[in-house]
Amino acid sequence: MQGQPMIVMSEDSQRVKDKDAQEHNISAARAVADAVRSTLGPKGMDKMLVSDTGDVTITNDGVTILKEMDIDNPTAEMIIEVAETQENEAGDGTTTAVAIAGELLNNAEDLLGQDVHPTAITKGFHLASEMACEEIDNVAESVDSGDETLLRHVAETSMTGKGAELDKEALAKLVVDAVQQVTVDNTVDLEYIKIETQTGRTASESELLTGGAIDKDPVHNSMPTSVEDAQILLLNDAIEIEEAEADTEVSVTDPDQLQSFLDQEEQQLKEKVQQIKETGANVVLCQDGIDAMAQHYLAKEDILAVQQAKQSDLGFLKEVLSATIVTDLANVTATDLGAGSITRNTSDDLFYIEGDDAHGVTLLLRGSTDHVVDELERGITDALDVVAQTVSDGRAVAGGSAIEIEVARRLRNSAESVSGREQLAVETFADALELIPRVLAGNAGLDSIDTLVELRSAHEDGETYAGFDVESGEVTNTYETGVVEPAHVKEQAISSATEAANLVLQIDDIISAGDLSTNKGDDGAGGMGGMGGMGGAM
Ligand code: ADP
Ligand code: MG
Repeated sequence: MQGQPMIVMSEDSQRVKDKDAQEHNISAARAVADAVRSTLGPKGMDKMLVSDTGDVTITNDGVTILKEMDIDNPTAEMIIEVAETQENEAGDGTTTAVAIAGELLNNAEDLLGQDVHPTAITKGFHLASEMACEEIDNVAESVDSGDETLLRHVAETSMTGKGAELDKEALAKLVVDAVQQVTVDNTVDLEYIKIETQTGRTASESELLTGGAIDKDPVHNSMPTSVEDAQILLLNDAIEIEEAEADTEVSVTDPDQLQSFLDQEEQQLKEKVQQIKETGANVVLCQDGIDAMAQHYLAKEDILAVQQAKQSDLGFLKEVLSATIVTDLANVTATDLGAGSITRNTSDDLFYIEGDDAHGVTLLLRGSTDHVVDELERGITDALDVVAQTVSDGRAVAGGSAIEIEVARRLRNSAESVSGREQLAVETFADALELIPRVLAGNAGLDSIDTLVELRSAHEDGETYAGFDVESGEVTNTYETGVVEPAHVKEQAISSATEAANLVLQIDDIISAGDLSTNKGDDGAGGMGGMGGMGGAM
């Protein structure tokens, strides 16, 4: 069944029972797992995803691949949810989670073939998953939140194989510095880190800025471009003629009348600018538009203004400046303003904005093209998550499959104490974890069985951290060579993979109301809507 299309049900089979139902579900789930397996690890390949509108995404990121793929099968979607849960709960390890889920189901199929009841399998898997998490905790090293070297290793490990790879040392330093700036007593507030991207330069020119940055030009060229003692107004309201009056039709009979009408409008804009001036503001960052006449008056008052600023930028600057976003200009007061400074960087046409009681940093990521910057951003987002998690959770494990091999070994040793057929399931679970070393080695072009045998024997000899380091291509102590991951990522990957596999295994009857495919109507805007209709035909 390997490599079958994901949609196995046709519209005329309305009901599938028992073994057929299990087989159907398992092969659908496995197809999803197979699709992302080749991206696992530093030597994993990238996927190029083309949406029905022709948008191209090039990525190595498991959850991104699965989200963009047009998958139209309920079981397959359960597996995709594993990736989403993993992304939300741990920020990394999505490919691992999906691959383990697929392998659990693969191995379960063998047990089903030996007439082991699905309930014994799910019970055994559940037990094994709990045992595995306990063993991860037993093996994990505790990490000091100030241990920069280790945190950088964690960042580098998560970035390896992603767009960030080439400059990973410099980028890992930025990531760790950023996290440390928003950490208080081991509590990390990632809300205070904003990622800003710019194309045109290389990733190594990425930098960490205190405060925020916005990519906007002043609305008038005689405005100041930098303000040292800035009183900044964040405005989500237009500085324009009130709509009601703009809509009013005026019939003009003589030129004086026209002049007075224009004067009136001008007066209104002048008053709005005056009102801003009276609060003490000397910088206005406006999310809406600014009338040309108002721009002129603002410039005359030496007020720096930008228009059409991004909502997300204003939202972040609100934190940076401890300011209020004003939604109605008529009600603006001095207390709404934020104190800080704004500086124009002429080399990249960005404004850098710092708050006086600064909290909040911006990671300014650079790359040559949009595709490069997008993949870089995905890699950096994962890295921020794993570093933040290591700081707040305080536990790390050796990567390069060291942890998976060790946990598998311990599970096999404990399996003897498990009674009945569940013992088989626990052993099978241990085998499934060893998919990770096999795939890592295979993706790096090595013989996966040889590597697995070597790893197993190292662990039998008590080398708990023996893993496969892709850089050297050797089995070594990966904790020492700097392939390090948060313990929580591994725990989460194992537990969500188990839950999904068990869900699939518990189904022994598929009753479909019409078409078995789930044609989601709510994602028409994404790349999937247009192709959804193909599901029933496959
Ligand atoms: P995921 O989506 O599961 O995070 P990745 O493609 O990021 O998938 O691969 C993660 C795996 O790659 C982990 O098992 C990790 O230990 C491993 N890994 C990362 N860096 C190295 C390395 N230098 N050598 C060997 N394995 C590595
Ligand atoms: Mg990863």
